[in-house]
Amino acid sequence: MEFSILADSFNKMESTRKRLELTQYLVELFEKTPHEVISKIVYLLQGKLRPDFEGIELGVAEKLAIRAISKSSGIPIKKIEDEYRKGGDLGHAASVILEQKTQTTFLVEDITVERVYETLFKIANLEGSRSQDMKMKYISSLLNDANPLEASFILKILLGTLRLGIAENTVMDALAIAFSGSKENRKILEHAYNVSSDLGKVAETIATSKLEGVEKFEVILFNPIRPMLADRVKSEDEAVEKMGNEFAAEYKLDGERVQLHVEGEKVVLFSRSLENISSYYPDIIEKIPKAIQAENAILEAEAVAINENTGEFLPFQELMHRRRKYKIEKAVTQYPITVNFFDILYCNGKSCLQMDYKSRRDKLEKIVKEDDYAKHIPMAIVKNSNDIEDFLENSINSGSEGLMLKMLDKPYQAGSRGNYWLKLKREYRNELGDSLDLVVIGGFFGKGRRTGNYGTLLLATYDEDQDTFTSICKVGTGFSDEDLDQLYQILNPKVTIKKNPRIDSEMEADVWFEPELVIEAVASEITLSPIHKAARDTIRKDAGLALRFPKFTGKIRVEKAAEDASTNEEVITLFKGQKKVAHDKNLI
Ligand code: AMP
Repeated sequence: MEFSILADSFNKMESTRKRLELTQYLVELFEKTPHEVISKIVYLLQGKLRPDFEGIELGVAEKLAIRAISKSSGIPIKKIEDEYRKGGDLGHAASVILEQKTQTTFLVEDITVERVYETLFKIANLEGSRSQDMKMKYISSLLNDANPLEASFILKILLGTLRLGIAENTVMDALAIAFSGSKENRKILEHAYNVSSDLGKVAETIATSKLEGVEKFEVILFNPIRPMLADRVKSEDEAVEKMGNEFAAEYKLDGERVQLHVEGEKVVLFSRSLENISSYYPDIIEKIPKAIQAENAILEAEAVAINENTGEFLPFQELMHRRRKYKIEKAVTQYPITVNFFDILYCNGKSCLQMDYKSRRDKLEKIVKEDDYAKHIPMAIVKNSNDIEDFLENSINSGSEGLMLKMLDKPYQAGSRGNYWLKLKREYRNELGDSLDLVVIGGFFGKGRRTGNYGTLLLATYDEDQDTFTSICKVGTGFSDEDLDQLYQILNPKVTIKKNPRIDSEMEADVWFEPELVIEAVASEITLSPIHKAARDTIRKDAGLALRFPKFTGKIRVEKAAEDASTNEEVITLFKGQKKVAHDKNLI
């Protein structure tokens, strides 16, 4: 397939942020795409080469790309840097430069999507001392044959700056329309995606074997399953109302969710956002096979830092010391953990997703043999508010965050949030009712002691319908100096020249970030706001919702993807809840 078709399509997509238009462009692109390249196209349009869990990173630095442009165009590095500085986008700068060049040279050979993809793949796999030279050779050979528009997109993919603003749901809508004639069939695609976490594979399957093929998708060992999520409740009574007469309550431990894929001595660990995190937990890899009494299994657990002397659970932040590339062995002894199992998704070659909670829990207890390191998460069957309250108190006394409540007769719903699981957190007694997980979308430079850091951050909720990140508050309190330094390190590489099209904010920030990082905040109240965009026009026309007196809690939720942040639905519920409390107290 000619790469120019893809470049033209990307060019159109870059010019809009409207979901319907994007879907239409995607449908047109998929219809022109031969089946054998469709998976590649699906990865490329998300700026990837393979699904995230395979961890393939392109990792090309700007300097190297500039050298490659210079090599293939014969234009001095300095001139390219000047052009780059003008617009801040190297892809665009390259297209301007190559535009001048093509006027003076012969027409180039057509390049194909296959060739670009394969070359990018080779670049991603290069390692070692000579890799920089080799990378440069590969890049300049592509640029030699690319027209200016193609070159600009090749560079954007290489540098990780391709920002088409296309969410997975939009890709699935377009695939359903292009290959089954109706958007309604997205549900079937979603199921396949939820069990495989591989959108490229879903695309290839629907293109080659239609919906029947997609319906046959099954869980595969060592391919992560998208996790099931919980809705929140604010009180024991609300939980009983939603859960019925009898249900399970489990401790909600404050650690990192880990999906373990185990077969014999082989163990692979995935985070909640499906990143391969095996290297952070060599202790799990070593110790867990002994505890598993099955040929193979996929299990879910919460890895929690503990105080070795008292056995008490420690907060999530302690675990973050393990997020390092070097000296991990030292971190393992300094920050010991236990692995607390709460679900089983696959066992001895068969999926357990359709089994109800009760049967899964029974199986889990049989398969995981408990020891000092591997535990079953504490669970009790509860029937009423009093039972919940007692168990909640126990859980909080042992250092956990609250409870997870789970319906006994329901299956595991991969990739979705629903009422089958509810979370009841300790903070439900604080002023707002709960903490919120918010996406950092913008930053404001600090003054005084905070000079050189982002002193204030602009935060957003996730709008599930529009698939956008809607501003909800600016937060400047609750940060220690250490927090600010750490946030700067994380956020600086996410700075963008142009606001990402999925960000919905009227407020102007000093810098915009890729909407990727999630942090936790509390606030005293949710108010109507003329400026902020969260839940705009829902409660009142021309007004959004905003947080009053927001404060950072100290928790950077690196394990969460932006789409896992608090949604506008949740904020609306909290807003209505606080009105009800005020009403009950005769305050309004
Ligand atoms: P939240 O991050 O507040 O949305 O809560 C969901 C998270 O709680 C999950 O992603 C897990 O990391 C964690 N968690 C702790 N204990 C449990 C449990 N017993 N069952 C399910 N998730 C749990």
